[in-house]
Amino acid sequence: MRKLTILGATGSIGASTLKVVAENPEQFTVVALAAGGNVDKMRELCQRWQPKYAVMATAQAAQILQAQLRELKLNIEVLYGTDAMCQVAACDEVDTVMAAIVGAAGLLPTMAAVKAGKRVLLANKEALVMSGQLFIDAVEEFGAELMPVDSEHNAIFQCLPVEIQTRLGRCDLAQSGVSHILLTGSGGPFRYSDINTLSGVTPQQAIAHPNWSMGPKISVDSATMMNKGLEFIEAKWLFNAAPQQLKVLIHPQSVIHSMVQYRDGSVIAQLGEQDMATPIAHTMAYPERVGAGVAALDFTRLSELTFMDVDYQRYPCLKLAIDACYEGQHATTSLNAANEVAVEAFLNGKIRFTDIATINQQVLSKICGMNNPLHSYTLESLLELDTMARSLASQELKERLL
Ligand code: NAD
Ligand code: MG
Repeated sequence: MRKLTILGATGSIGASTLKVVAENPEQFTVVALAAGGNVDKMRELCQRWQPKYAVMATAQAAQILQAQLRELKLNIEVLYGTDAMCQVAACDEVDTVMAAIVGAAGLLPTMAAVKAGKRVLLANKEALVMSGQLFIDAVEEFGAELMPVDSEHNAIFQCLPVEIQTRLGRCDLAQSGVSHILLTGSGGPFRYSDINTLSGVTPQQAIAHPNWSMGPKISVDSATMMNKGLEFIEAKWLFNAAPQQLKVLIHPQSVIHSMVQYRDGSVIAQLGEQDMATPIAHTMAYPERVGAGVAALDFTRLSELTFMDVDYQRYPCLKLAIDACYEGQHATTSLNAANEVAVEAFLNGKIRFTDIATINQQVLSKICGMNNPLHSYTLESLLELDTMARSLASQELKERLL
């Protein structure tokens, strides 16, 4: 029986994780649930799953939850704040941690799980983008078992030989005969729109992803393809890939979830429905397979699988992320931070869709002007850099408020 902490339990990945638990009640049990501020959703989850711990981001949210659980006569320990998230990610009662808090807020709890040597199911790509080498070094030092949840990275993982699967981030791809990793992306809701209309798109249009149902932040990132950029950086770290070994390919149908190309000309792909329960179930049960409640892919209903090159005019954020990946840790950490600020402002109707790329680009060029690419970072200095990039992004924002 695997004993789980789910960080980001009230979100989209949290829901898919619990769907897999519900499919396999003999194999998984929920020990702790953690989330931001959605008390109503957390109360529902507590009633359904009766975890030992429920953690909210703030004292206020925890207080309200505690009162509601008491009324329901549920004996669940309610905690709050980052330290408590770290505590339930690292405690002895748990062996597996789903890291699905969105954004930089997930870094410390995810790191706590790594440092406690857990099986870490990594959905929170921002944590790895922010901390890169530091994260991979901690996986090695503390003997954590890292499993990629992101559908592309999970697909790539499944297409790689076992010697790489069991030592993620620390193997030489070329030694295993890998020539390239082909990262596929749908191109998001605006892949066929006139580029000149992009400055006028609304948050509702941007979060209406054609193939996947996801939280608002990653949905906007998919529309700008910053998501693919963050995934490019994520793939660099997870698979110890040189940027030249990574290629991005637009695949509008999202049936192939990514591929690995070998030296002998073979290409191995992983295919499936667009349901995160599949990669999540894979990471939870690995090396076994369990039901995920996902329908089998029906090939007779697939009309075509098509592929296109990326047009960077349409997706400047993807270009920025690839450039940042070549530049170094200071660039990727600050790009991630600037992007979080810009996306939130766009979702709140404060800036235009196209301002996201402009703000990211401005922050990146300022940070790159002042940082040494060879600098080696600690968790604290990365968080300082994150704060600095956020404040630069906020300044840029002010000049573009609608
Ligand atoms: P979501 O917005 O649906 O859920 C985010 C979760 O994080 C919620 O439970 C929220 O309460 C919690 N949260 C937010 N701020 C918090 C804080 N300060 N402290 C603690 N918890 C906090 O997002 P999602 O779509 O589930 O995505 C979660 C992560 O998984 C992201 O990093 C995303 O990039 C990644 N991911 C998502 C998908 C997907 O299909 N949804 C696919 C691949 C990767
Ligand atoms: Mg993905």
